[in-house]
Amino acid sequence: MEQKLFTKNDNGFICANCGFEVKPLGYTSRNHCPKCLCSLHVDINPGDRACECHGVMHPVKVVTDPKKGYIILHKCSKCGEIHRNKAAHEAKVQPDDINYLIELTAREI
Ligand SMILES: [Zn+2]
Ligand SMILES: [Zn+2]
Repeated sequence: MEQKLFTKNDNGFICANCGFEVKPLGYTSRNHCPKCLCSLHVDINPGDRACECHGVMHPVKVVTDPKKGYIILHKCSKCGEIHRNKAAHEAKVQPDDINYLIELTAREI
């Protein structure tokens, strides 16, 4: 049986990478940890939970978009797929680590 490292629902989740207890954002569902910025490969399209990979997705780079702001590129450690996710550094509850986001903008992949 597959070990369950991660539980996720509307009330937040426990980060599968660092164990941080992530609280819900309130206005939109959060899909990554504000501390280590890791996500989990559970969606094919955002929020659909239709993917059975369940690999940990690490932030590999952050790009800036003039309209959307910081976009985190997440790469799945299991299947290598890359997803783009909007950063939540302006959230009132547990905002994404802005210093880490900036550091990742300088990262080459
Ligand atoms: Zn984490
Ligand atoms: Zn994957």
